[in-house]
Amino acid sequence: MTEFNREIDDNELDLYPKRDLVIVKGKNAIVWDDRGREYIDCVAGHGVVNVGHCNARVVKAIQNQAEKLISCTGIFDNDSKSKLLKMLVDISPASLNKAFLCNSGTESIEAAIKFARYSTRKTEFICAMRGFHGRTLGSLSATYNPKYRNDFEPLVPGFKFVPFNNFDKIESVVSKNTAGIILEIIQGEGGINLGNHEYFTQIRRMCDEKEILLIIDEVQTGFGRTGKMFACDHFGLQPDILCLAKAIAGGMPMGAVLCSNKITASKGKHGSTFGGNPLACEAALAAITFILDSNLADQSLEKGDYICSRLKEFNLQVIREIRHKGLMIGIELKVKVKPFITRLMKKGILVLPAGATVIRLLPPLTISYEELDKVINELYEVLRPV
Ligand code: PLP
Repeated sequence: MTEFNREIDDNELDLYPKRDLVIVKGKNAIVWDDRGREYIDCVAGHGVVNVGHCNARVVKAIQNQAEKLISCTGIFDNDSKSKLLKMLVDISPASLNKAFLCNSGTESIEAAIKFARYSTRKTEFICAMRGFHGRTLGSLSATYNPKYRNDFEPLVPGFKFVPFNNFDKIESVVSKNTAGIILEIIQGEGGINLGNHEYFTQIRRMCDEKEILLIIDEVQTGFGRTGKMFACDHFGLQPDILCLAKAIAGGMPMGAVLCSNKITASKGKHGSTFGGNPLACEAALAAITFILDSNLADQSLEKGDYICSRLKEFNLQVIREIRHKGLMIGIELKVKVKPFITRLMKKGILVLPAGATVIRLLPPLTISYEELDKVINELYEVLRPV
């Protein structure tokens, strides 16, 4: 461990499983550590940097806005915020026509829970086993893994968990008091589990019949990650609430909750001091425009297919299954992934786990084919039989 790293660790509350790496610089899909070593970054800030580290357009937008207006509370309108709200409504499924801006994924889920309770006057939610929605008390109540929940009980009451991709199980726990169903389209932290079309179609139909709100969490899958602007778009799914964060603002902290006209709100019932601040809004406008102009969603689809088909060709015994949509990739092993992740880091490739046995790749969607080939080669080197 470098001295620099130790100093940081001494002063930070011990919450993160650290990698013994001090990252000081980034450009596109490459990051550099404090010793000048370079890494291909398939972590991308946990799926934040879809447009690449220090994307030139995002940097310029932040620089320009920083000289104009950095902060503006929600009681005033603001030109940057208005533009972003319009853009979000334009690019999202047609059911969604209003937005609330906040600062993170967990805040977007908190807001969705409150909006759903307020609009339906009902209090219960149905969520999926292995789902992950954040770590504050409301979103943690919607998160399945006991590892995150234990030690913080009692959580918010009224959250029920059923197996993912099983419509009958959802139907069996619906009650007159069900306000909403909260789901990811592809479970990220839970192991890259792909939701199927029929499942979401059935849920949508039932929600309409029983006046239940369908709340889709695209904090990790949004903004081109899965090969469409939103993963909902693979099925033409029309949510009542869509939660967004991570890649929305090119690396700046931001979250958003997009709402259909089933959502009612009234003054003072929710809010956020920093939500919709002009600096983050300009970064988001630049990032989303870049995603659209560069067809990043299509690139994600093609690059994801490329890397996964090449990996499958190796027919490696240690791999149980490769699951992916675009550049949201899970390589499930028959063994624990931790040692492989460390070996990859030593070879200059940063990757994430998703549970104990899945290697997760969430590279910037701008990653080059040359860089992808390096990732493929190093994955082969660490996963091949010795
Ligand atoms: N929802 C999903 C699907 C996530 O993957 C995450 C974070 O990984 C969150 C919510 C929470 O987001 P944040 O860490 O910005 O609070």
